Amino acid sequence: MADSRPRKKIKKGHSFYQIRNRVNKHQDLVSRTVENLYSDEWITFCFVKLIRCNAAYSCCFSKAWCVTKRNLDETDESKRAIVRFPSLFDVNLVKQFMNDTDDIESRITDSQLTAFKRLADFLDTIDETERVLKAWMHSAKKESVWATVLAVHVLRKLAVFNEMTIDSDYGYKQKECPCSCGTHINFGDNSIGHKDVWHGSLDILLGPVAVKVAPSDDESSEKSNSAFELETGELEECRNQLISQCITFSYLQNAGLIPLVSLSEHSLKIFLFDPKSDMLYESLELDIFDEFGHISLTAIIVLWLVINHAVFCTGVKDSHEKLGYTSDFKSLVQEENPVLPVYEKDLHRSGLKHVNSTVWKYTALYNIHNHDNLFSLDVFDAE
Ligand SMILES: [Zn+2]
Repeated sequence: MADSRPRKKIKKGHSFYQIRNRVNKHQDLVSRTVENLYSDEWITFCFVKLIRCNAAYSCCFSKAWCVTKRNLDETDESKRAIVRFPSLFDVNLVKQFMNDTDDIESRITDSQLTAFKRLADFLDTIDETERVLKAWMHSAKKESVWATVLAVHVLRKLAVFNEMTIDSDYGYKQKECPCSCGTHINFGDNSIGHKDVWHGSLDILLGPVAVKVAPSDDESSEKSNSAFELETGELEECRNQLISQCITFSYLQNAGLIPLVSLSEHSLKIFLFDPKSDMLYESLELDIFDEFGHISLTAIIVLWLVINHAVFCTGVKDSHEKLGYTSDFKSLVQEENPVLPVYEKDLHRSGLKHVNSTVWKYTALYNIHNHDNLFSLDVFDAE
């Protein structure tokens, strides 16, 4: 997290000013977008509580389920708070950097400066990136091809830690980026978790960030669940998997508030989980393209902050904890079959593909609770 890391001083002002000037070539656009993060109701997080889940049993992510409630659905108005981006990410640092205020040059870390360089590089070539994305958005027949183009040309370019591994079981199998740009693709075993609890593969690992791609209709092996059909968002149908992967990945990393980026054809969504405070955050779905068909700079700035959470995330705020809307994950996994210590100490990477699940026994329980809680799943963006 940004506030807990030692701040390494930069001796030379040269690269600072060079990078700052490059970012400031796009000052109007970036400033406007950054200001929006302070006020736009559509770029916010809510808190999520788990009512039931099967995290205490041996279960692969594809069979993971959780019945949830968002704090915005509470009848008690005092619980219905939203969280803006600057409350979790150091957006103020971006303003200080662009305006060269608050002695920012002496305070900025090497990693933060590298993040600004990545942003400058991206903005300088945004037209070219947009051409590639638009061409592949319509021609990619599989979600996995589109997601790979998006990962290579957007996510990886924005990331300070940009080593990227696509899971060997994921749909994309070619050694190079689909668009013929020649970018080499690394494949590997991205499985995480533990055989006795939630486990399975993450589609894409980008440094310390997990990326999950929503399957398109023809690629999805399981039909949408009745409760989720009430939702219109592209990423709602795989929300169970997103939450299970986010929580498991966060316990594995054990480094504070950890994000999971989820992508679909047109939008992205962010989940964040912090094992210590037991807080689970969920963003609204953000469009990747704006209404004029251009790459949405809001989506880019959000992705840039989240992907580089190690340098920008400021962690769970005391005020969020005081609200008391914890995920209750800790208590749920201790209820019937106590496995919290497995999450806290025994999770590991790789070797967890194709591990048998015992979760079929609990499917019936899921259906009952799912119908009981229909009301809790159908409203998020309503006032
Ligand atoms: Zn490419």
